[in-house]
Amino acid sequence: MLLIKNGRVVDPASKTDANLDVLLDGDRIAKFGANLSVDGAEIFDAKGLVVAPGFIDLHCHLREPGQELSETIETGTKSAAKGGFTAVCCMPNTQPINDSASVTRGIVERAKATGSVRVWPIGAVSVGSKGDALAEIAAMKDAGIVAVSDDGKPVATARLMRQAMEYCESLGLPVIDHCEDPSLFAGGVMREGQQSARLGLKGIPAQTESICVGRDVEVAALANARLHIAHMSTRGSLEYVRAAKKHGLRVTCEVTPHHFTLTDEDVRYDTRYKMNPPLASRSDRDALIDGLADGSVDAIATDHAPHHAASKDVEFDRAPFGITGFETALPLGLTELVHTKKLSLMRLVELFTTGPARVLGIERKIAAGQPADITIFSPDREWTYNAAETPSKSRNTPFDGRAFRGAVAATIVAGRSV
Ligand SMILES: [Zn+2]
Ligand SMILES: [Zn+2]
Repeated sequence: MLLIKNGRVVDPASKTDANLDVLLDGDRIAKFGANLSVDGAEIFDAKGLVVAPGFIDLHCHLREPGQELSETIETGTKSAAKGGFTAVCCMPNTQPINDSASVTRGIVERAKATGSVRVWPIGAVSVGSKGDALAEIAAMKDAGIVAVSDDGKPVATARLMRQAMEYCESLGLPVIDHCEDPSLFAGGVMREGQQSARLGLKGIPAQTESICVGRDVEVAALANARLHIAHMSTRGSLEYVRAAKKHGLRVTCEVTPHHFTLTDEDVRYDTRYKMNPPLASRSDRDALIDGLADGSVDAIATDHAPHHAASKDVEFDRAPFGITGFETALPLGLTELVHTKKLSLMRLVELFTTGPARVLGIERKIAAGQPADITIFSPDREWTYNAAETPSKSRNTPFDGRAFRGAVAATIVAGRSV
């Protein structure tokens, strides 16, 4: 048994914010309350620390199978554990694509054998994510997927989106879309605007994303089904989501730490600033922060996208999109949102716990009988990120050397500190 003593328990599910002890028995939470004492229990002294339900990341890339030079399930989940995540949802754009039950089973088995945290695979919407025919979604669900997405690209057509939504509704799975209009995207490498003109880089207009969000919201209304928008980055997209929620549609969305922290003004000739969707304008960034604060945004997700050094060490135009993100997500949330008084601590914890859980249709809370998944962090510890120390195989982050206020102290999965 593990007794977490003297911590400040912050649990959005029950709106608890109080100094309480939490007792874990095996892989379950046994009880929580004031001044617990249990003979023979191992003690974790959480004085000065926040004790929260285990963090869930709705969006990451673990690169296994097929791209093990950049990441494996083992190295990726070590990095996730270091970042305080107890469960991560991995996107299907591996090699091969996770579009069949056999690939899903392979990921689930590798995760059991080598993973530090829970791995919840996301299956492809379409065969090969090619946008033609639906993948074997029911069989993948039996094998362990928790959602579907053709991430890396949008679900190709409104018609396929409708089919996927109607089919997934009966299976209880959310459809997650990477929203992008390919004709407007057209080979762009950063956000279109003054900075792209200054740098002479081909721009991607904001509407590339919001046009597709608008389409998806319309299809969600048509199919009366769940829709989740991945890595939302613009004010226009947020307006569609807000309107959809207001009309009672089951539309949810996530925002990444880099999109609430950086803007296109930060982009330079450094491929660690190249990601998709690209860093947006200041106005977009400020809108996203408002959405995070007022409940329009449901979750913070990392879109952890490791790329080995050789692939990123090329001209900006030729580099792949994506940055790593597990270890900087909570520190950025605390430093950029909570310590600046834009969000309460409770709200930030919600965006990492009950928020993503709700998107997946599951519960996440500190209560007797629940899985013993707990994230413990210091809201105030000051430190500097050194990407060279990451257990990830990749270091493609613009946050190397950044100073933070707030750090992960322990990640507990199924009662075990990882
Ligand atoms: Zn994506
Ligand atoms: Zn992604």
